[in-house]
Amino acid sequence: MSFVFGPVLSRRFGLSLGIDLSPAKKQCNFDCLYCELEGAKPTDRFVAPADPAAIARAVKHALQTTAPDVITITANGEPTLYPHLDALIDLLRPLKDSAKLMILSNGSTIGDPRVANALAKLDIVKLSLDCATDLAFKKLDRAVRGVEIADVINAMIDFRRGFNAQLVIEILLVKNINDNEAEFDALAAALRRILPDRIDIGTIERPSAYRVERAEIGAMELLRQKLAPLNAQVIKPNTKTITTMKQRFDRTAILELLGRRKLALGEVDALFDNDSLRILGELERDGLVVITENGAGQFWALKSACSPFDF
Ligand code: SF4
Repeated sequence: MSFVFGPVLSRRFGLSLGIDLSPAKKQCNFDCLYCELEGAKPTDRFVAPADPAAIARAVKHALQTTAPDVITITANGEPTLYPHLDALIDLLRPLKDSAKLMILSNGSTIGDPRVANALAKLDIVKLSLDCATDLAFKKLDRAVRGVEIADVINAMIDFRRGFNAQLVIEILLVKNINDNEAEFDALAAALRRILPDRIDIGTIERPSAYRVERAEIGAMELLRQKLAPLNAQVIKPNTKTITTMKQRFDRTAILELLGRRKLALGEVDALFDNDSLRILGELERDGLVVITENGAGQFWALKSACSPFDF
């Protein structure tokens, strides 16, 4: 599989060219109940890291045919576990032109000075903070042994003090786990010390590794109010179609894209040109892709990637 995917429509950041630092295998120090990847034992060791120069070459090649709003460093798992992250960021910065360079991280490693120093070179750092109490953190995010949420929050506060670019915190709410007032009060207290530029509040939008339920919109709204005067917003799915974002994807590109993440029907409408939609139909007739459905909506997926929870 390739290191680069998309571009895809990000609800929050626009047209995003993705970099996957672990395309072959999930490598994460969390095992979140809501993970869009398969559940897996958490690990803090990153095996078989790719050569950063090879990843940068793949990004350079992709940028010859697309002009994304953001270049997003991510992984099938936690990208900050990748041991050559600092070197990779140094190689990517000269390539990005007007695009912003961003990372999506679960935030757990931000206390490691090597990670913090590398992330300080980015335009946007998006860290997750689903819980601020030990109880909810252990229940929802299920980190590898040794990661404590109080330490993570303190490390985020330290990072913010030295980071002048955009820091975004994402909170994902799950019904009956972290959608209660006690958790909201703890999150508000932590976030008033972290002082991010923006806080995105969301819930499950895609099929999850484990059986969990979406939080109610009322709970998300209540959390937003509790976070005032911080800049917090409830995130709604991006379904608008922007014709200039339509791209052509061949069979291989579609299979690769769906191998990384299921795509909501609205995303496919927004991103795929007519030729790509025709090829998608052929793949469906060939039995390689299907439309799956769960409480979060309908998604295109690889047939082999469908779990019993999808139907
Ligand atoms: S941090 Fe992300 S990749 Fe890791 S288990 Fe949680 S949702 Fe999945």
